[in-house]
Amino acid sequence: MSENKGRSYTNGEITVYWNPRECIHSTLCFRSLRSVFDPMKRPWINPEGASSNQIKETIEKCLSCALFFSWNDSKRNESETSPKLYKGECDGTHAKMGFKG
Ligand code: SF4
Repeated sequence: MSENKGRSYTNGEITVYWNPRECIHSTLCFRSLRSVFDPMKRPWINPEGASSNQIKETIEKCLSCALFFSWNDSKRNESETSPKLYKGECDGTHAKMGFKG
């Protein structure tokens, strides 16, 4: 995986992508869901720490293009794509991360 693709973490249902280059350190993710996003731990993202829907909701609070998710079920992924990807707000990262437009 190239550096531009960021890092990925999955619980088998949802995959969380984190691109450190885009993180603006707003702290929203770990203030919202510390059981998953804990900067004091390595790895700092533990997708087993909450339900997939809680993870999705937290990722949607991220103000930057640092956090994305995709569903491991490709059909679900088509109908419930991360809004940031759907709206094209993060095109650069989006393309780098290999999501379809
Ligand atoms: S919410 Fe997004 S920008 Fe803020 S610390 Fe988490 S990953 Fe970084």
